[in-house]
Amino acid sequence: MSRFLNPRYAKLEAYVPGEQPTECHYIKLNTNESPFPPSPEVLALANADQAALLRLYPDPDCGTLRKKLAAYYQVSEQNVIVANGSDDILNLAFMAFGSTEYPVCFPDITYGFYSVFSDLHGISSRKIPLETDFSINPDQYRDGFIVLANPNAPTGLSLSVAQIESIVKANPNHVVLIDEAYVDFGGQSCVELTRQYDNLLVVMTFSKSRNLAGARIGFAVGTIALIDDLNRIKNSINPYSVNRFSLAIGTAAIDSQTYYDTCCQEIIRIRETTAAKLKALGFTVIPSHGNFLFIKKETLAGDKFYHALRAHGILARHWDHKRICDYIRVSIGTEAEMETFVETTQAITKEFL
Ligand code: PMP
Repeated sequence: MSRFLNPRYAKLEAYVPGEQPTECHYIKLNTNESPFPPSPEVLALANADQAALLRLYPDPDCGTLRKKLAAYYQVSEQNVIVANGSDDILNLAFMAFGSTEYPVCFPDITYGFYSVFSDLHGISSRKIPLETDFSINPDQYRDGFIVLANPNAPTGLSLSVAQIESIVKANPNHVVLIDEAYVDFGGQSCVELTRQYDNLLVVMTFSKSRNLAGARIGFAVGTIALIDDLNRIKNSINPYSVNRFSLAIGTAAIDSQTYYDTCCQEIIRIRETTAAKLKALGFTVIPSHGNFLFIKKETLAGDKFYHALRAHGILARHWDHKRICDYIRVSIGTEAEMETFVETTQAITKEFL
């Protein structure tokens, strides 16, 4: 730390992203990326004509992509904002709707960036413990800016639209932000409710179910007023946050929805066959609506399992948090990758017997 850093940031603990190795000899199951490539229509845009256009700034309003998203989600384009990944949207939302007058409420076990953004912006947070089975009790989310990942990460458990609606109704004077990063893998989207409730903001991403983690495209849907609030902040930080190439491929991705639906169906199928094999090996597998599984085995400490997998060339994710340190999270890869993962896991469980 230099002596020039604003003291306000001296104690800030930054988010630690999953490892992104530069060598590619790993089976990479640690950051919930898609194992499948972007659609052929998106790949076709990786050409010299697109590259030549990079001399120009991108459209700060992301107009073409917002129009496509609005048509797809059946809202108007003023109900949509696009930014540099959903992390960027979340940051804007914490700045816009967080306050020192009331807390931001989220589960004790959830996406790690929520507490980082609270600390970054000096907002007090109320971490609400998940139930013992890791489920979220909707009745506990009251009297604050509510932030929920649905499906939750890293558990993969999800709430129904009716449960989300009960939270939105119970907090008419606060924003309820639902982070639907993983919704396309079996969850229920509550985007429709944004037409009815002025306090609901739904955040989504192209990183998971549209196979574009590297393009950094996220978006949110909400009332015109909520989206205006986010734009006010976005345009005070970086109006050009989404680059020209990402805008073009994001637009093409919406036109390839059938391809992405097929990829999601395949990921769900592989998730379920992998879950069944792990259960047969004696693992506890939390039922998941995400593109990942959260698993543990009594005889195998989470950190040991994580390191043993790594030594065998497989990257997964492990957290030291005491409630979940027995678990690891494993993203769903291709069928062949998951077969290797299960075989390696079987060998590791024998080693640690
Ligand atoms: N929300 C959740 C729950 C996530 O797990 C992630 C990424 N791992 C994000 C948001 C951010 O995704 P991105 O910035 O790639 O859109």
